[in-house]
Amino acid sequence: MSQNAAVTTPTGPVLSDRHVDPHAYPQGLAFLDGQYLPMSQAKISVLDWGFLHSDATYDTVHVWDGSFFRLDLHLDRFFGGLEKLRMTIPFDRYGVTEILHNCVALSGHRAAYVEMLCTRGASPTFSRDPRQAVNRFMAFAVPFGSVANAEQLRRGLHVAISDKVRIPPASIDPAIKNYHWLDLVRGLYDAYDRGAETALILDFNGNVAEGPGFNVFLVKDGKLSTPAVGVLPGITRRTVFDLCAEAGLSAAAVDVGVAALKAADEVFITSTAGGIMPVTAIDDAPVADRNVGPITSRLMGLYWKKHQDPAWSSPVRYP
Ligand code: PLP
Repeated sequence: MSQNAAVTTPTGPVLSDRHVDPHAYPQGLAFLDGQYLPMSQAKISVLDWGFLHSDATYDTVHVWDGSFFRLDLHLDRFFGGLEKLRMTIPFDRYGVTEILHNCVALSGHRAAYVEMLCTRGASPTFSRDPRQAVNRFMAFAVPFGSVANAEQLRRGLHVAISDKVRIPPASIDPAIKNYHWLDLVRGLYDAYDRGAETALILDFNGNVAEGPGFNVFLVKDGKLSTPAVGVLPGITRRTVFDLCAEAGLSAAAVDVGVAALKAADEVFITSTAGGIMPVTAIDDAPVADRNVGPITSRLMGLYWKKHQDPAWSSPVRYP
């Protein structure tokens, strides 16, 4: 193991001082308008449609132990979103890759949350025509963060199911990763009001959709399922399918009803921000026996192990 190797336990990753170069940028580093800047100086105009109309797309990849995880998949999703929103940026995927490497390398972080994003921008003539806007690409690397903290990773998250409905795919294609989060944030407040730690919200048919920054899976009788529609096709969700294929586990994208989720043997959520994270209580009732289940634990272990597989990870080009 290298000096900076991640400390991985069956309950997930543990960050340590070894992941940050104390001489670099503790708050992270951004690329904006052709310049690399400390995060505190990365600012955009209030006239940008990204801010005024949430007219933007983005993607987030993580760096763990000095390597990007599945960067190609994140780039595919980002460039797919740009195309669907008819945005153009002055970089191809190699240019964006270079910028992401530079953001992480200059930041000094070996465990980072790395975002690439494009806003519609603003029109120099204040035109209301989006075609007149100058699209703005930016990127940043900040310290790695997780939906679940260390205690929650160990004992499982407590989730509430809100009656808020995720914006339907007929309105916004969820494959365009976006900042339309008012439904998710309102669901989160519902969860806090009910003493839970995070939320799941519903799709337009009343089935379970996703939560603020994560997809959800259930395990029943050894088989995994996850909501099929109205959700972001998460890269971690896709990774669970890939891990299941390798491990000989059955996994399917289907409608997931609230009752089925509550009756599951195991439940976990997935996100670039934390990987695979167990859920052990829903709406104040335990999931099965309230312990993190064996399939969840196994997949968590496999997930972090894959961070050392060169097929899925690419080392950051540090100076
Ligand atoms: N769903 C939503 C709404 C998200 O914002 C995210 C990630 O930010 C996810 C799911 C999980 O996607 P990924 O695994 O690609 O991080």
